[in-house]
Amino acid sequence: MEKHLIKLSGNGPHPRPGNVSTVTVEDMHLAVAKITDKHVGALLLARYGGDDGQRTVIITKLKTMFLSHRKWKMSQCELLVSNALDEYLNPRYCKACNGFGHTMQTVRSKGAIQVECEVCSGKGILPFSKRERARRMKVSAPTWNNYQSIYQLVLDTLTDWNFNGVKFVRARIS
Ligand SMILES: [Zn+2]
Repeated sequence: MEKHLIKLSGNGPHPRPGNVSTVTVEDMHLAVAKITDKHVGALLLARYGGDDGQRTVIITKLKTMFLSHRKWKMSQCELLVSNALDEYLNPRYCKACNGFGHTMQTVRSKGAIQVECEVCSGKGILPFSKRERARRMKVSAPTWNNYQSIYQLVLDTLTDWNFNGVKFVRARIS
């Protein structure tokens, strides 16, 4: 029987060649069950297992971390972390490099070489625009500036959780 395989990516949001581990769904679930930080395991299940039911665990943890950062309502905080999580889980891949972060270019002396994609600066994804983030937060674009830094902090936090989670899973299966 063919096993369903998952590609884990330790760095950026997109599974890139050279930075990908392939594991079975079963192995990932077994490893995730051993992760002490439940929100980290939840993120892996949401991201690689497509398990939307994990969102509650992730959002609850993010709210406890970021609610005290500013004087805002719980509902605003919830909307912001939930929007950031959506952007993280459903990234917009860069069309110029198909999400790989690099393109191949032919250099006369060297032949075909990999070059960092200029459109996405090698990230493979393009962030949602300021206007779109503002719309999703239900605020005007100028007001969005008040939220931008904390929104980025939430995205960075998710990237860290993913990195740690993938490291843990890789260690258990290798
Ligand atoms: Zn690109």
